[in-house]
Amino acid sequence: MKHFNPEIGIQNILVHQILDALHSDVLLAVSSHTNKEQGSFFESKSFREGNCFKVEEHSLPDLYRICHEVIEALDFHEPIDFYLSGDSDINANSFESEIEGDPDLIEINSALFNLMTEDELKFVIGHEIGHLINHDMLVTSLINFAYPDEDTIPVFIDVRRKILNHVAEFAADRYGYLANHNLEACISALYKLASGIDLQKLEVSIPALIENNEQHLRFFLEENGEMFGNHPVNPLRVQALYVYSTAKRQKEIDECICSFINCTSHKLFDPLKARYTAAAGMLMAQVDGKVSKREMAAIYKRMGEDCLFPEEEWNDLKKSDLNKVLDESIQQMLETYGLRANESMMRYALEIMLADGTISQKEIDFVYKLGDSLLLTPSETTTLITEAMRDNYLPKMNV
Ligand SMILES: [Zn+2]
Repeated sequence: MKHFNPEIGIQNILVHQILDALHSDVLLAVSSHTNKEQGSFFESKSFREGNCFKVEEHSLPDLYRICHEVIEALDFHEPIDFYLSGDSDINANSFESEIEGDPDLIEINSALFNLMTEDELKFVIGHEIGHLINHDMLVTSLINFAYPDEDTIPVFIDVRRKILNHVAEFAADRYGYLANHNLEACISALYKLASGIDLQKLEVSIPALIENNEQHLRFFLEENGEMFGNHPVNPLRVQALYVYSTAKRQKEIDECICSFINCTSHKLFDPLKARYTAAAGMLMAQVDGKVSKREMAAIYKRMGEDCLFPEEEWNDLKKSDLNKVLDESIQQMLETYGLRANESMMRYALEIMLADGTISQKEIDFVYKLGDSLLLTPSETTTLITEAMRDNYLPKMNV
C-alpha cells in the first residue's frame, strides 16, 4: 500500500448526505433488478468496442505502458479497458462497470492523445481513474435512477449534487497529480484541456502561469467571479494542484478544498433563509409541547436546502432567543425578497405544522400570529392553511 491518503474529507461527507437522503440501500436493491445488458454502461462499452481502438500491449504498446504505469502508481487493482477514440474533443471519460468484476472503461480522445506529453497524459488518466476509485458515477446514477427528470430532484439533494460535482473533480485531480508527481505537467494538461493550445509549441512558461494564478484566484474567491459548468474553474484547480504538491499534512488539502467549496456554496445557499427555517420551524414544532422526530427531520431537510450542515447550524442557533431570531429573519427576508416571499414562508411553517399528522388549536393560533408578522391578512392565512391541508394533511390514525 502506498503511503498517502488521497481522500478529500468533504467529498465523503457530501456523498453520505446524498446517499442517506436517497435511502441508497433500498434504491440500490431496486435498481439491481434493472437489465444491465440494456443499461448505459453496456451501451458505452458497445460503442467503444465497435468504433474505437482498444489499448492493448501488442497494438498500442506506448499508450498501454503509460496507462499501466498510472494504474501501478495509484495502486488500483480493478480491471480497466482503455480505448483511444477518433474524437476531436480534447477530452477523456471514465465509465464504471455496472457488473461486479467486469472491467471499467476509460476513453481517451485522439485529439487529447495528440496534444499531451507523457506526463500530461498520466495526469489525465490518473484523473479518470480517480473518478473510478471514488465511484463518482454511483451517486450520479442513483440520483438519475430516482429522478430521471432533473427538474424534480429535491433541492436538498440538488445543491449537494452541484457541490459534489466540483469536489469530485478536485479529488480526481489529486489522483492525477499522484499519477505523475509533476506539478507543471498537471497544470499544462489543464490549460491544454481548456484551450486546445499546444503550450510547448508556444513556449508558454508554466512557472509564470503558477505565479500569476494568484490574481485569477482572487477574482473568484474575493470578487465573486461567476463559475459555470460541472468543472471547477482553472485558477481553483491550479491552486489545489499546487497545494497537493506542497502540503505536508492532509489538513492543508482539506482546508483548501473547503475554502473553495464555501465560495461555490454561498451562491447556492441563503443563510438568512436557513435562520428563518430553523427559528420558524422549531417554534412551530414546539407549540404543542414536544418536537417529534418527523418534525425535526422535516426542519433539517428544509434547512439543508440553505446550509451544508443543518444540525451544526441548529446547535449554534438554539442558544439564542428563537423569537428574536424569527422576528429579525422575517424582517430581513421581507426587506430582501419583498412581499412575494411571505406566502412561501408561511407554506413552510404549515408544512412543519402538518409533519406529525396532528393539528392543535395552539398551532393554529401560532400560525395566525406568524401570518401577522409576515404581513398576511387573516383571510390570506386561512386560504394558505386550507391549501396546505388539502395538499399535505394525512391525519394520524389511532388504531
Ligand atoms: Zn473529471
